[in-house]
Amino acid sequence: DLVTGVQTCALPICLHQTDGDGSTTPDAFGPIAFEDHRHSGSSVEAHPPISAESVDERENEGVIGRFAPSPTGPLHVGNLRTALIAWLHARSGGGEMVVRIEDLDRANSSRQNEERQLAALAALGLDHEPVTVRQSERFDIYRDVIADLRRRDLVYECYCTRREIREAVNAPHGPELLYPGTCRTLTRSQLAERADRPAALRLRTDSPTLRVDDVVAGPTDSVVDDFVLQRNDGVPAYNLAVVVDDAHQRVDEVVRGDDLLASTGRQMHLQRLLGFSTPLYAHVPLVLGPDGERLAKRHGAVTLDDLAERGIDAVTVLRVLARSIGLDGDAAITAADLVDEFDLGRLPRAPWVVHHEWTTSTQQ
Ligand code: GLU
Repeated sequence: DLVTGVQTCALPICLHQTDGDGSTTPDAFGPIAFEDHRHSGSSVEAHPPISAESVDERENEGVIGRFAPSPTGPLHVGNLRTALIAWLHARSGGGEMVVRIEDLDRANSSRQNEERQLAALAALGLDHEPVTVRQSERFDIYRDVIADLRRRDLVYECYCTRREIREAVNAPHGPELLYPGTCRTLTRSQLAERADRPAALRLRTDSPTLRVDDVVAGPTDSVVDDFVLQRNDGVPAYNLAVVVDDAHQRVDEVVRGDDLLASTGRQMHLQRLLGFSTPLYAHVPLVLGPDGERLAKRHGAVTLDDLAERGIDAVTVLRVLARSIGLDGDAAITAADLVDEFDLGRLPRAPWVVHHEWTTSTQQ
């Protein structure tokens, strides 16, 4: 059983679906309506889209999905699985998937990585229009949006270090922190003390909790804090860029790893402020290594190139990925062969655990 049991396969890559809450009830997710998920009214004042040119001219009337990798290294099978789901979801809805390069982090991104990532998508048959959106080329657009928010008195400078935030919320460890609003109300003298530090820019919010109607994760409450719009090194922040670009690319559906579910409320809040519609969200469970940690390079052969070196070709990887998302896929040669069978309701709701028999040896 793909969902509750251990799947063994003749390949040196085997998958094992952890039980999780054991539920795969497709009925709970129902049919996906592309119209219904859009909201129009909201508690915050909507603002017209930034400018007409900010929206892609596009002929295609079908749904638009997207895959938005950061080119900081090669894609591993976990990333490819998410891309496959995004592509199949768009295609099975009569649409297409666009690819956007999220290279805000200039220090760790490279064109070479981008090319490798695109080659990996191509090897699985995840075709798409040529890439036109690279975040590194769009800083001016993001800054215009920040300036617009600033004019609306929705932006303030933040001088806090990560450590200070941790101390303020009394959480020395842990992944993500909600900003406690320290710099929102600095007195003149507090400001003077901090003025020589570089400032990040944060969005002023009243900390709403937004409901994400996620078609995979189910309805999820997401707290919006005063999140960063521009980092203290001047680089526009992820949540801002993603919202601007999803609107620019007319993205109707966002399929991505569920590590980003916690930030989705922030993105929805910003969409409302900027007058953008909210896409359909499908946050898919992460892919884990045999040790239960998020799949990463240290787990061994996790990229198509690594696997090819071990004699495992892209077609084989595609079939393994197909099975991991609840499809049969045994005869698939390319992703298009999976479109008819694809059903998001069959996606197991528990993380996919990848077992590589060589993992231990390559860890040394
Ligand atoms: N660029 C992000 C990543 O590679 C994904 C962002 C998104 O899908 O919204 O993790």
